[in-house]
Amino acid sequence: MVKSEPNRMLEALAQMPKAELHLHLEGAPRWSTVREALHRHHRWELPQTPPFHAPDFRFADFGEFKGCFRNYIYPWLQTKKGYAELMEDVVDSLVEQRIRYVELNFNVATVDLLNLDLKTVLEQLAVSVATAGDRGTIIRIIVGIDRSQGSENARLQVERMLPYPVISGFDLHGLETPETRADRFQDAWAIARDAGKKVKVHAGEMDGPASIHAAVATAGITQIGHGTSAIESPEVVNFLLERGVVVEMCPTSNERLGNVSSYQNHPILALDEAGVKVTLNSDDPTWFGLNLTQEMQRLVSDRQVSLDCLARWTRNAFEVAIADDTMRSQFFTELETWQQTHCHG
Ligand SMILES: [Zn+2]
Repeated sequence: MVKSEPNRMLEALAQMPKAELHLHLEGAPRWSTVREALHRHHRWELPQTPPFHAPDFRFADFGEFKGCFRNYIYPWLQTKKGYAELMEDVVDSLVEQRIRYVELNFNVATVDLLNLDLKTVLEQLAVSVATAGDRGTIIRIIVGIDRSQGSENARLQVERMLPYPVISGFDLHGLETPETRADRFQDAWAIARDAGKKVKVHAGEMDGPASIHAAVATAGITQIGHGTSAIESPEVVNFLLERGVVVEMCPTSNERLGNVSSYQNHPILALDEAGVKVTLNSDDPTWFGLNLTQEMQRLVSDRQVSLDCLARWTRNAFEVAIADDTMRSQFFTELETWQQTHCHG
């Protein structure tokens, strides 16, 4: 039987060796697993499809979005094996999608808020990272630091996390305002860099292009989360080009949180066309209803993005992976082999 074109595309995307640089651990488990866990632990009855998975759903604001973590993830993580169970599902989902490399943002503030023991949680994460590695998915744990808690907190969190070898780097996230731009956190970044850790930040998601400029020009960041507002400033676009900055773009997240006017107007294609090194990411698939593979499918159907283009963006991500030469060239080879099978002829 001859396969139809859409089926061939789905199969090709399923088999593609992928990379995801922007994924929040606490927003990554599959909803079906969240629902099942909350029923098992708390006898909660939750719908098979939550209201926020409706295609036309939009979060009213960042506060409503953060409420999802409070309502559904905290009650799970408070149980004895919460982190281990959540990680197990995230690993299954990553392996199933053939995501070969992922930078997983771990929100340290959640551990403190729930009064959990950091060492125990990190030990559980380290076990899951090792299991994922055995199954072909390299996970790098990146500590997410809440920008709204200020620069002193950031410095203390970096110092606190450095003794744990499972931590590969740091990211700045949370509500973006002109007062919480990345250049205010220089002390923390200096300590992290001295210890050989990656430093990246969310910038230009809720704040204008000046936020991206501050992150790159002053704080020396070369990997930016979102960066959607760069498109408003030709100077900032040029600057991203000059510095070879990699931008972790998350189209459905930006649509659902109202940070772009529409999916059709998301600047990922315009920035790519300008030569910026963009990558594709799902951010928080639990709340947006789309994992990385499904985000790729959506770009193919809604924005006519080619498989070659998706492969190029994946290569951009592999280029900045925390990996030795052998691992990186293995990623490139797998991707080229996939392209030869699915993109040329
Ligand atoms: Zn994010």
